[in-house]
Amino acid sequence: MKKRIVILPGDGIGKEVTTEGKKVLDKIAEIFGHEFEYDEATIGHDAIEATGNPLPDESLTKMKKADAILFGAVGHPKYDNDPSLKVRPEQGLLKMRKELGLYANLRPIKLFDELLEASSIKPEILKGSDILFFRELTGDVYFGEKGRKDDGNTAYDLMIYQRYEIERIAHKAFQAARTRKKKVTSVDKANVLESSRLWRAVVQEIGTQYPDVTLEHTFIDTAAMKLIQNPKSFDVVLTGNLFGDILTDEASQIAGSMGMLASASVGYTIGLYEPIHGSAHDITGKGIANPLASILSVALMLDISFGLKAEAEAVITAVEHTLKQGWRTADIADAKTAKDKILNTQHMGTKIVEQLSGQSLNPTALNTASSIASNFIS
Ligand code: NAD
Repeated sequence: MKKRIVILPGDGIGKEVTTEGKKVLDKIAEIFGHEFEYDEATIGHDAIEATGNPLPDESLTKMKKADAILFGAVGHPKYDNDPSLKVRPEQGLLKMRKELGLYANLRPIKLFDELLEASSIKPEILKGSDILFFRELTGDVYFGEKGRKDDGNTAYDLMIYQRYEIERIAHKAFQAARTRKKKVTSVDKANVLESSRLWRAVVQEIGTQYPDVTLEHTFIDTAAMKLIQNPKSFDVVLTGNLFGDILTDEASQIAGSMGMLASASVGYTIGLYEPIHGSAHDITGKGIANPLASILSVALMLDISFGLKAEAEAVITAVEHTLKQGWRTADIADAKTAKDKILNTQHMGTKIVEQLSGQSLNPTALNTASSIASNFIS
């Protein structure tokens, strides 16, 4: 298979982790006989420094011509420390999502048994958790009208949803639930917010087209509590942009670290794959970022954008085996981890590549049951 992939490293640890993701793509191409052609594009702080624009047209043009995009993260302390700066890295991220029509963000919360001890939640509560989040990505307060009143002391961000935006992501969530445990939990704040009342009514309506899927509605505050009280009670979680942003960071604690969670942003044609974490200024340049979220994002790309399920499974199996052998990055090490088992970013990437080389790869024998499945890009 021949595919064109745009790599968008972005800022901070984005550069460090996408380098490792690409290493894994190269190995997969070599083993399975594919041809992946790469192009690189800028976004975020680096793009602002170079062009004054957080998402230059040139980057967008490259992305529109690609078969898939591997993204790192954006963000820089300069902007975090000065909210008055008008041009900001995150604007590039929001524009990219909107321009590419990436309205559905899939965030699988996959817990590797080897990391049960890395979480601050009790292992007996965590074991067996398997959640697939559908976070709406191009609506809500992030895209609604925002501003300040003339006095400067009043600010607003409009929380807004239109019916079609809710319908299209609800269909995707119900379709995914059919390939899993057939349960959708829709998260909103319908007791207070009008946009949530529309959200709930539309999801309820769409649900009638999927009578084999159980639908439940939960308020965001209750969902936040239940997520750590009983994560196993969730299968597919469907929610808006803001609630999804917050809930999935909380859910990263189920997987042990932000450095373990991958995501896929999909819509009509192209797919974008990225870790859920940000540019992590606190560890940038130290070589200690966990690259597994980026590597697992590569697995999602192979599965969802290219339909290469055996290849995706090979990557997930390589991660699993590496963890089973006790290898860790600092964020997922625990008190029992020996010092010589803690790897830096680059060495963790190399370990995964070595695992891939060592696997007896018989594509038909690989168990693809745990793959994200279903064709999300139509
Ligand atoms: P963050 O996700 O960057 O980091 C949160 C914490 O998790 C930090 O302590 C960090 O060290 C740790 N962490 C994150 N990824 C890790 C990894 N791969 N390995 C080990 N530890 C990891 O969130 P933040 O600190 O709130 O934000 C930093 C910057 O990132 C901000 O400028 C923010 O706007 C931006 N941001 C960007 C995105 C994105 O590009 N999609 C998402 C979230 C935040």
